[in-house]
Amino acid sequence: MTRLYNDPKQFSDEALAGMALAHPGHVQRVHGGVVRATDSPRGSVAVVIGGGSGHYPAFAGWVGPGLAHGAACGNVFASPSASQVYSVVRAADNGGGVLLTYGNYAGDVLHFGQAAERLRAEGLDVRTLAVSDDVASNTPENHRDRRGVTGDLVVFKVAGAAAERGDDLDTVERIARRANDRTRSLGVAFNGCTLPGAGEPLFSVPAGLMSVGLGVHGEPGVRDVPMGTAAEVADLLVQGVLAEEPPRGHGGYEGRAVVILNGLGTVKNEELYVVYGRVAQRLEDAGLTPVLPEVGELMSSLDMAGLSLTVTFLDPELEELWCAPVDTIAYRRGAVHERERREVTSVVVTADPIPEASEKSRELAQTITNVLEVLRETAVAAEPELGRMDAIAGDGDHGQGMSYGTSGAWRAAADALAQGAGARTLLVRAGEAWSEAAGGTSGALWGGALTAVGAALSDEGPAGSADIVRAVEQGGQAVQRLGGAEPGDKTMVDALVPFTTVLSERFASGDPLPRAWTHAAEAATHAARATAEIPARRGRSRVLGEKSVGTPDPGATSFALLMSAVAKSGLLEN
Ligand code: ADP
Ligand code: MG
Repeated sequence: MTRLYNDPKQFSDEALAGMALAHPGHVQRVHGGVVRATDSPRGSVAVVIGGGSGHYPAFAGWVGPGLAHGAACGNVFASPSASQVYSVVRAADNGGGVLLTYGNYAGDVLHFGQAAERLRAEGLDVRTLAVSDDVASNTPENHRDRRGVTGDLVVFKVAGAAAERGDDLDTVERIARRANDRTRSLGVAFNGCTLPGAGEPLFSVPAGLMSVGLGVHGEPGVRDVPMGTAAEVADLLVQGVLAEEPPRGHGGYEGRAVVILNGLGTVKNEELYVVYGRVAQRLEDAGLTPVLPEVGELMSSLDMAGLSLTVTFLDPELEELWCAPVDTIAYRRGAVHERERREVTSVVVTADPIPEASEKSRELAQTITNVLEVLRETAVAAEPELGRMDAIAGDGDHGQGMSYGTSGAWRAAADALAQGAGARTLLVRAGEAWSEAAGGTSGALWGGALTAVGAALSDEGPAGSADIVRAVEQGGQAVQRLGGAEPGDKTMVDALVPFTTVLSERFASGDPLPRAWTHAAEAATHAARATAEIPARRGRSRVLGEKSVGTPDPGATSFALLMSAVAKSGLLEN
């Protein structure tokens, strides 16, 4: 039960505000989260972390020297929005590039990804890494597609230590990826947690059983087994994580490991220590040496009853970074030298002024605004049909998402145009607005696409047909990069890839842009229809994949509809 709250909707905000008041030497609030209270050397890398609230000390409890430079904090169990991430990064940036890292959940991947697209469009070098340590959530071969749990701490800690010693962005990113590839976690839960204001738990585990591999937000576990003794639980966890131990001598691994025994909310420290006694014994039997192990609450899930074990198979460099000094609210070791306070000028990041644009670029911006209006009219008209299609194997909100998204994008574009925006700025703003207005997976992907198209254009020079084709290609690549889907997964990518391929080929072989676009839209329409024959393998619909056979993918269908409407509009003739 979460007993103490005022307005449940304000719970995570109020918790964060209280944390900042209690620890002014460590963190200061900015729009969307917190950044360090202390300054960092100019030109150094910033590590920005984040995720939903309800997981204390993740994520704001890990901001400070030796660890993160900022944390974007969403609502309870919900990803922060792209604009929250953006604002925290802007406040945390030291001029040396930014590593954005977070647990591997669809909402986080998309919103952090979209913020990264926008920041890149503005010239910042930003890398992203989704931590994926939970062995219960995918096979060993697909370990990078697993969920992120307590392994977050290890990955963030070594990245933060690398940034602290002055490593450049390439190095910090490489080290963080290596730590992620070598980290494994497994958890068991005895009961679910209750959201602030909710009358009953989010999920529950049947009495007398424990659920192995249950996700921290109640994602289904691998199996329910009878409740065991502390020793039995320890054995189960050790066995689970050591199943993927690399061979000794491989990549500098010599049996030394980070070991974290984590309480998820209501398991007491004494209970954890009882379990740890057996864990330590089992690790010793396996010839493993724990390096500065941690026992306690390091990644919680409100009042969830459960615990997890995390192991990182170290090499000498990762060990050095794991052991380096750190000073955050919830995690401290060693001595960190005195630092100056950092003055963050704006607590709420307001929209930057619209940059100067050339007349040519403003003309293009006008055409783009007209195109967005066509997209809006098309999406609004197709809303009921797209909704029905999504209800078959998805959640029925695709029509609404497309209608809200296109409307938001068009309004933002019209607004930017009135302020004299060029093509690049206008599209970046329209992309953000699409994502914020639509929500959902497709909203974040379309938002990222528009932002990437904008980033490929400029506010100064004119843009010819060749520039537009190239920019559209960039937009398509952003969707694949952000969503990670391949053709054949039954997503909008199945229509998008034929579209950009035909567009580029036709244009390269001499078709003018309008004709190339018409052929590309036909290819997309054809490909979208063909998705009816395959089961969904990505996104929400993958759970009901087989049920989707016989119906085309809603996202592919809407993509083809919108691109066909642009072809028919005649707007490309200008
Ligand atoms: P949600 O699934 O969050 O409810 P929508 O209903 O708005 O979002 O959009 C569903 C569509 O999103 C799907 O039909 C599919 O085309 C697209 N989609 C889902 N996941 C991905 C992905 N990883 N990459 C590309 N497109 C995706
Ligand atoms: Mg949906």
